Amino acid sequence: MQTKELQSNNKNKASGGKIAGGTILLIVAAVLVIVGIILISKGTALKNSVSMSDPDWFDISSKGSGMTFGGIALCFGAVFCVVVGIVLLSTRGKSFSQAVIDNAKATIEKANNEARQLTEEERKAISEKMHATNRHMSNYFAGVVECKNCGHEVGPHDKKCKYCGTRVR
Ligand SMILES: [Zn+2]
Repeated sequence: MQTKELQSNNKNKASGGKIAGGTILLIVAAVLVIVGIILISKGTALKNSVSMSDPDWFDISSKGSGMTFGGIALCFGAVFCVVVGIVLLSTRGKSFSQAVIDNAKATIEKANNEARQLTEEERKAISEKMHATNRHMSNYFAGVVECKNCGHEVGPHDKKCKYCGTRVR
């Protein structure tokens, strides 16, 4: 068998293993949640079933608490299984970091392609919008305001617009 075929065979095996592992983890998570919820409800019911005047109150109540906490722990375990299971299923043949890198590459490539398809006018409009945003931001920080009457910019120390005389602050 050639090296390339061997490599692809190994990759397929790894991919299959991850899918099987991920599926098993999700099933385990479902079982954990069911058992956990049963334990929580039974533990709570047990705790509520005895009154404090009962001589066995402490024993029964602590048994109920133990069951409830055990159930909560199982639910946390289930969350962990779900997270690991989903990661395994979503990465399949790749390592997790490779999957993240591939995703980022595809996103950048898509953005590049879309940028290439822009017409000259669209590019101009975007660049004008960016300049306007920059000007607004630097005006804001410098304390420059726009006259509501004529639209001219009024300096941070002027109380009246020097073009039309309208009071601005
Ligand atoms: Zn003005």
